[in-house]
Amino acid sequence: MPEGISPPGSLRSPPPEGLSVPSERPSGTDLVVERPEGLYCPAGDFHLDPWRPVARAVITHAHADHARRGHGAYLAQADGAGVLRARLGDITLQTLAYGEVVQINGVTVSLHPAGHVLGSAQVRLEHRGEVWVVSGDYFVSGIEHDHNSSCAPFEPVRCDTFITESTFGLPIYRWRPQAELMAEVNTWWSANAAAGRPSLLMAYSFGKAQRLLAGVDAAIGPIVVHGAVQGINAAYRAAGVALPETRLLDATEDLSRALVIAPPAVHGSAWARRLGAFSDAFASGWMQLRGARRRQGVDRGFVLSDHADWPGLQRAIAATGAQRVIVTHGYEAVMVRWLQQQGLQAGSFRTEYGDDNADEQSNKQAERQAESPAVSPSPADPGSAGPAAAP
Ligand SMILES: [Zn+2]
Ligand SMILES: [Zn+2]
Repeated sequence: MPEGISPPGSLRSPPPEGLSVPSERPSGTDLVVERPEGLYCPAGDFHLDPWRPVARAVITHAHADHARRGHGAYLAQADGAGVLRARLGDITLQTLAYGEVVQINGVTVSLHPAGHVLGSAQVRLEHRGEVWVVSGDYFVSGIEHDHNSSCAPFEPVRCDTFITESTFGLPIYRWRPQAELMAEVNTWWSANAAAGRPSLLMAYSFGKAQRLLAGVDAAIGPIVVHGAVQGINAAYRAAGVALPETRLLDATEDLSRALVIAPPAVHGSAWARRLGAFSDAFASGWMQLRGARRRQGVDRGFVLSDHADWPGLQRAIAATGAQRVIVTHGYEAVMVRWLQQQGLQAGSFRTEYGDDNADEQSNKQAERQAESPAVSPSPADPGSAGPAAAP
């Protein structure tokens, strides 16, 4: 990223009272280390999702905070190439199928499904018998067999060291079954259609929007999308993901039964006013928080995330069999403490990744002010338990 622009990492809040984040003490043989420009593999001389321009970057997925401009060469999963090119333009890009293996300066590199968005990958690195996996962002639910149906589901990869995200690494985050959630969205849409008003559903244009499209009941009415969503839909369809028919907004059409999917930025905009009188909703993992819907100023909030919830993170970490876990962006301190309680070697890397978009980021900030101490389960959520009690 260009110098002078403050990174999303500047929004990070300090760890909760009484918790400090132990920093990783790297040994000379570590396959991945922290560098000012991003995570770096010294043996292979390449970076992973670097936030500053580097010569060679392995990219986990095409979200803006993980796939930045200015690198000399990119390596990414093939399904995500369309979105990556649409966002970054004419880049030098090598793509791999899931599970395909390449050698980079003697390090064996392969990409494995992360279940987050189209083309999202965990990066497996093997060198001198040691295996590390860098997760990128991933979706694993605490509910077994529940997965993101709009992309290849997360695949656990055995490793010695697992570098995990922790965006929703707090016990309060527990996703409900996806089918229940989608039924809730369909019920809301049907009720609006019966009342003759459009349903404006705001969701991030890359990943969340397509996940909703893959799950809604297209028989209820026409589906209209914002131009930002339509472009990404094309990339999903080109990669073989089945999505219902979508059209761009034409305010001269009858929209009384329409579901309209658009990025959160349209909230309060002239674009949204073209819909006339409508009901609106926001789909995000942050909607689990009391007050988040009100802060967003929408009628409904649907708790839908493309990241792992608290039990999902634990399940994913356990499935790797890793004895050492390094935690990145999110609630590092809480997750590191929990891992240490499980007898694992754990630490954190400081990264400059955000939460996929600025809207979610600002929501997280508001939440951190509203919900402290962060390690306490919310009284409004009887299903939550403290870190030590969780499975
Ligand atoms: Zn991320
Ligand atoms: Zn992401």
